[in-house]
Amino acid sequence: MRATDTLIRLLAGLIFGLLAAASIAAEPVMLDMQLRLIPAKRMLEGSANLKLPAIANRRIAIDRRARLATLTVDGQPVRLRRWWRGDLEIRAIPDGASSVEMSWQLPLSPVPEEASHRDTLGDDRATAGSDGSFLPASARWYPGLQVGQDDGLQRWRVTIDVPAGQRAIVPGRLVEEAEASGYTRTVYRMDVPAAGIDLMVGPYVVLERAIKSVDGRTLKLRTLFHPRIADLAEGYLDALGAYFQRYEQWIGPYPYDDFSVVSSPTPTGFGMPSLTYLGVDVLRLPFIRGTSLGHEVLHNWWGNGVYPDIRQGNWSEGLTTFMADYTYALDEAPEKARVMRMGWLRDLSAIPPGKGLALNRFTARRHGISAAVGYGRAAMVFVMLRDRIGNAAFDRAIRRFWRQRRFQVASWADLQAAFEAEAGESLQAFLTPLLTARDLPTLALSHGDAGVMLHQSAPHHALRVPVVADPAAGKQTLMVGISGPEVRVEPPAGTRTLTLDPDFRVLRRLARNEAAPVLREINLAGVASLMVLGDERVEAAAEHLAERLLDRTPRRRSPEAPPGDGPLLVIGTATEVDAWLAAHGHPARPQAVSGRGDAQAWAGLTASDKPMLVVSGSNADALEAAARSLPHLGRYGWVVIEGGRSIDRGQGAAKPQVMSVPTAAPQAR
Ligand SMILES: [Zn+2]
Repeated sequence: MRATDTLIRLLAGLIFGLLAAASIAAEPVMLDMQLRLIPAKRMLEGSANLKLPAIANRRIAIDRRARLATLTVDGQPVRLRRWWRGDLEIRAIPDGASSVEMSWQLPLSPVPEEASHRDTLGDDRATAGSDGSFLPASARWYPGLQVGQDDGLQRWRVTIDVPAGQRAIVPGRLVEEAEASGYTRTVYRMDVPAAGIDLMVGPYVVLERAIKSVDGRTLKLRTLFHPRIADLAEGYLDALGAYFQRYEQWIGPYPYDDFSVVSSPTPTGFGMPSLTYLGVDVLRLPFIRGTSLGHEVLHNWWGNGVYPDIRQGNWSEGLTTFMADYTYALDEAPEKARVMRMGWLRDLSAIPPGKGLALNRFTARRHGISAAVGYGRAAMVFVMLRDRIGNAAFDRAIRRFWRQRRFQVASWADLQAAFEAEAGESLQAFLTPLLTARDLPTLALSHGDAGVMLHQSAPHHALRVPVVADPAAGKQTLMVGISGPEVRVEPPAGTRTLTLDPDFRVLRRLARNEAAPVLREINLAGVASLMVLGDERVEAAAEHLAERLLDRTPRRRSPEAPPGDGPLLVIGTATEVDAWLAAHGHPARPQAVSGRGDAQAWAGLTASDKPMLVVSGSNADALEAAARSLPHLGRYGWVVIEGGRSIDRGQGAAKPQVMSVPTAAPQAR
């Protein structure tokens, strides 16, 4: 999981019913709203006019706290009929009616004082304050059309007045801005059918830069930053320019006319059509503009440009991870990309058999397992696909998919069709197990009377596995095709060793120790046990630390009890930790962390080969302080912490599966 992953607005499954019911191009909902938001008073006033599509089963919903001033359907006053999902719902829309007008007031919640990224991802309250207001569409702060159980797609024009000094933004194109009588008015239009409207307001300093798109339009890039980070704006605009150039050339024209990076007072990360909303502290991190920013820009093609049909699996995170994060790693060095692939496979391999998630069941990141699958496993499919069909066909397929599916819902099957059309071959046998299997196969080499064999456990995938042979003439990579339980390998004469997939290019369950363990694996292997080694103060610090580190509430295990057969989190003072490790036959703390810092953490394995995470501190305060940084260091194998900050960290080396080939083994002539 990346430190600043964002949640893109996933609408696809939700709008599917509407798409099936009516042609959205012919009859979009057109929503015209006038808003006034006073952050200091935490009050929103609005009036809206909705032009309704002529389809059955239409409803309008708004937050139950909204105070409706007026409500008419085709000019006739209407009353609210009933409550639904906690929202106010207007059901009395006669079949022939074509417009709804409404005006309302909505009190907003205060901005939470301290919220973690995990909290803000799931929070759908509309909040307001002078340092920043955020009204997510899911808070139903405006009257939204629903069809059946689903949200409707819509186009909109939104006019927003905020006090001078504040600045408002919603997804779409900025068409007007003006100052009058103490207010700043901005008007945005969304001209293509899009999902819910998120509204952001803050004391922003706006910087704008115009660039030319590949199809000759003018694109406006903007930063809306808090004054305290305004000096970062130029750097962000430079980075944005490069990303737009890259992705327009690679995929096709950017689907909107504007793109804004908007700062948030909370540690938020959201991607929406034409903008991304990132926490001030996130934007300050030096690596964000080199990684997460590009990922968010790319979501305007994958996610907010072509909508994943999440009922059949959300492919957009995998494709975005592949074309953003993975591509940037490749730009830097092939080794960096190899480490990324190894990390994906390691995380996936930590998921116990039977507990995995098929790619066609992934919807959105909710916990460690869904992240490992939706991002890493899906990105590996694209790695293998490109290895199989070549760069040129891959890139043509990407452009074809974009040309044909823009502003439509698309599934893995649609992606497959685009790749098959450009590769000129069926990919069915290759892709079906990759997309539908819950578990991953293991691969192993053996030799015996039958010669050298490559074995694959169930579920069997159709793979081309690189096996590196080392005859005297120099290393040679054999591509071994396998689609069942085993296949014979023919090493060249003089081969002494065979190494299985040393570059981690095949989606598979790694052998034990093939990749060195990392801290976050503890969250992938089921509910962990927590063992605390220390007094009551250590106990309290450990509870807090465990809460920050673990996705799920751990089982408590007393130090006297046997270590059990699940994942294990051990937290304690250095002396007690060392004594416990020795008493239970575990390896001593790694050299790299020994005698350094006031807290150390490292990953290992329990006696039953389950992930073990050890956190050792010189005292309770050191453990308490470690809780700040440790949750962000999950991708390392070991970490040294001093005063709550990580001063060194690293990862053990990969140990690919190597098999010696006895000279007696039959070899190719
Ligand atoms: Zn993403």
